[in-house]
Amino acid sequence: MKKIAIFGSTGSIGTQALDFIGANERDFKADVLIAHGNLDLLVRQAEKFRPSAIGLLDESAYNKDKLSNVGAKVAVGREAVELCYDCDTVLFSVVGADALYDLMRLIRRGKRIALANKECLVSAGNIIMKEAKRCGAEIVPVDSEHSAVWQCLRAGGEVQKIVLTASGGRYYRMSKEELDEITPEQAAVHPNWKMGKKISIDSATMMNKALELIEARWLFDTTNIDYVVHSESVIHSMVIMKDGAIFAELSEPDMRLPISIALSYPQRTPCGIKEFAFDRPLTFLNKREDVFFAPCLGKYCILKGGSTGATLDAANEAAVKLFCERRIKFTDIAEIVKRELYSSDVREIDSIDEIVRLHEEIKNKIYMNNL
Ligand code: MG
Repeated sequence: MKKIAIFGSTGSIGTQALDFIGANERDFKADVLIAHGNLDLLVRQAEKFRPSAIGLLDESAYNKDKLSNVGAKVAVGREAVELCYDCDTVLFSVVGADALYDLMRLIRRGKRIALANKECLVSAGNIIMKEAKRCGAEIVPVDSEHSAVWQCLRAGGEVQKIVLTASGGRYYRMSKEELDEITPEQAAVHPNWKMGKKISIDSATMMNKALELIEARWLFDTTNIDYVVHSESVIHSMVIMKDGAIFAELSEPDMRLPISIALSYPQRTPCGIKEFAFDRPLTFLNKREDVFFAPCLGKYCILKGGSTGATLDAANEAAVKLFCERRIKFTDIAEIVKRELYSSDVREIDSIDEIVRLHEEIKNKIYMNNL
C-alpha cells in the first residue's frame, strides 16, 4: 500500500488523482490532502477518503466548525507541507511559482515527487534539479508531454532531440483579428484536455508550450528540444534517437494516465482511460509562429538560461490576470511577455528568495503598467 500525499487536492489534477486512488484502494491510500483554499471540497474529500491529515494553505479560508467532524489532523498555512513528510509519494499539483518554498522543502526531505506544477521548474529549474540531486529527491513528471518523454527515455540509448507535441489549442486556425476578440470565458476551456483555467488559457496562447519547453530543458537536462503541432493530442510527445528512430507515447488524451504512471511506477495500474480508437488520422500542422510565437520565447529562455525562465513565467502570470480582468486583449498576453523578456537583462540567479523577488517585481510592474 503506497501512502500518497496530494498537495493541491481540490484542483483538476488533484481530483483526477483521487478518482484514480479511489478506484485502486488496495494499492494506494490518499493519506494527506492539502488544498489551497477550497475548504468545502477538502472536507468532502476527507469524509470520503479518510486521510490521516489534511492541510489548508490559505489561512483565511480556515473555519473550525466545518472541520469539526473530519477526524484527521489539521495543519494550516506554511506548516501544511510538513504533513507530507511521512508519505511515499507527494503529488505536487498546485499551480504557480508561489509554491516554490513548499516544493523546496519536500525536495530537501528527499521525497519522491510526482510534479504537476510547471511554473516552479520554469522559474527555478536550475536550483530545483541541483537540490533534488543533492538530496536524493526523485522528480517524476505528471505533465502529459513530459510523462511521455520520461517513458520513451526508458528505452535507453543516445538521444538526438526531444520533440514535444502541441495541440495548438482551439484557436490555432484563426486570424490575428479573430484572435483579438477571444474572451476569457472562451479561452478557459480546452478542446482535448480536462484542465484548470490558467493552463487552458496558456494552451490557447501557446504559452503553455513555452513553459513546457523550458520544463523539459530542466527535467531531461538537454537543450535539444523542439515542438510540433499535432491537434488531436494523441501523440503525447516523442524522442528522436541518435540513429533517427523515433519513440512516441500515444493514448486517448486523459490526465489520469500520466497521474497513474507517476504514482504507480515502476508498476503500471489501469486507470480507466478509454480504449484507443484507431479509426482516425493523426495529423501535424504547419507552425504559425508569426501569430503563435510564444514557443519561440520558450526557446529563447532555453538558450539564454539565468533569469529568463522566471521572467517569462512572471510576465505571463501578470498578463493572464490582466486578460481575465478584461484589461487587455487575448493577443496582448504573448506580446507583453515578449516585450518584458527582450527588454530584461539576463542574470544568473542561485537562490529561491531572489527568484521570488524577481517574480513579484515583474508581476507588479506589468500589472500596474496596464491598469
Ligand atoms: Mg502538458
